[in-house]
Amino acid sequence: MKYDFLIVGAGYAGAVAARELADAGHKVLVVDKRNHIGGNAFDTLDENGVLIHPYGPHIFHTNSRKIFEYLSRFTEWRFYEHRVLAKEKDAYYPIPINRITINKVFNLNLSEEEVEGFLDTKRVKKTEIKTSEDVVLNSVGHELCEMFFRGYTRKQWDLDLSELAAGVAARIPTRTNDDDRYFSDTFQMMPSHGYTAMFERILDSKNIEVRLSFDYLLNRKEINFDKLIFTGPIDAYYENCFGKLPYRSLRFEHEHFAVDQFQSVGTVNYPNEQDFTRITEFKHITGQVVSGTSIVKEYSQSSGDPYYPVPNPINESLYQKYLAKAELEKNVYFVGRLAQYRYYNMDQVVGSSLALVNKILDK
Ligand code: FAD
Ligand code: UDP
Repeated sequence: MKYDFLIVGAGYAGAVAARELADAGHKVLVVDKRNHIGGNAFDTLDENGVLIHPYGPHIFHTNSRKIFEYLSRFTEWRFYEHRVLAKEKDAYYPIPINRITINKVFNLNLSEEEVEGFLDTKRVKKTEIKTSEDVVLNSVGHELCEMFFRGYTRKQWDLDLSELAAGVAARIPTRTNDDDRYFSDTFQMMPSHGYTAMFERILDSKNIEVRLSFDYLLNRKEINFDKLIFTGPIDAYYENCFGKLPYRSLRFEHEHFAVDQFQSVGTVNYPNEQDFTRITEFKHITGQVVSGTSIVKEYSQSSGDPYYPVPNPINESLYQKYLAKAELEKNVYFVGRLAQYRYYNMDQVVGSSLALVNKILDK
């Protein structure tokens, strides 16, 4: 059997590309080295019947109506706005930093207008914003940076804020009002029946075959195909020929408790305490009504499955070498968080995959 396309990876990048190509009449084989579809967004019931995200908490949010409507073909949604608190010395503070956070940290009672002026007295104004440290100091100054950002960032990346590109800390806004939602996007939703169910529908086509527990890089010659879409780490595809790209990994510690609720919000961050970065309680996110509750603690580590590209200029210039090699390929395409070495959210991966298929189909 010869396939028109072999797609390596059954996460967002691979599944969306597969569906679009299949709908255009192409025969597609999707392989994944894991024993399930969905990539890092995979969800499943744990042994206690609680719907969990084995690879860490995934909350869908986007400003793109197009991407939201695209995924709406494959799932119904449940409205959900994520909320996060940071725990510091027995007190809890809203994250992103907002008026409530600032009043609590500095023991003040500032109005929205006053917060703006107050932050002006704290900010370390930067003419050029290059690093994540520049972002944080420029928006909130030293005290809030040390309290909420530097320690968390060190734990998560094993780097100082000053060693990371601005885009990392810029993911977290600063607010002067009382908005305590983690994301500001127009669409903030969770798939009603979970991510895996959504992926089953994306991949449900007579033109798509899925093969799991199959590592393409260990079996390169086994499949007959015309074109390849690779969504794993780009450096691994090229056998690290220019050197390994750094990826950050995580160790997940899942726990179950025979209580209704473990914590008051979906996620509690631990910027300076504990070895883990955050605890997420899944029931908040999924809305599942079930007795008992399950949580996950995230411990960051350098080895293990690659989860995060590490955005900084050195790594970007190494990635550019791989990209230049990739651009010389005739029938091999790279898309997704690991293949494009981009700190992409789920919606951005969907957008990137749709754009790639449009290019391939010459739309
Ligand atoms: P992946 O999901 O990583 O899929 C790539 C697939 O390729 C994997 O299944 C892998 O097994 C397979 N693969 C790799 N190499 C091979 C090979 N050689 N052979 C066969 N298969 C292979 N985004 C959000 O929008 N909201 C969130 O709340 C959010 N939370 C996150 C929390 C954590 C802890 C992490 C790590 C990420 C989070 N993300 C979130 C980002 C989100 O996971 C990604 O944007 C998205 O899942 C990436 O999709 P992808 O298809 O590019 O990659
Ligand atoms: N961050 C931080 N303190 C926080 C939350 C985030 O310092 O309380 C920084 C940290 O560097 C983190 C980055 O902002 O890695 C992005 O945070 P986000 O929650 O978006 O990370 P993700 O959910 O992708 O792990």
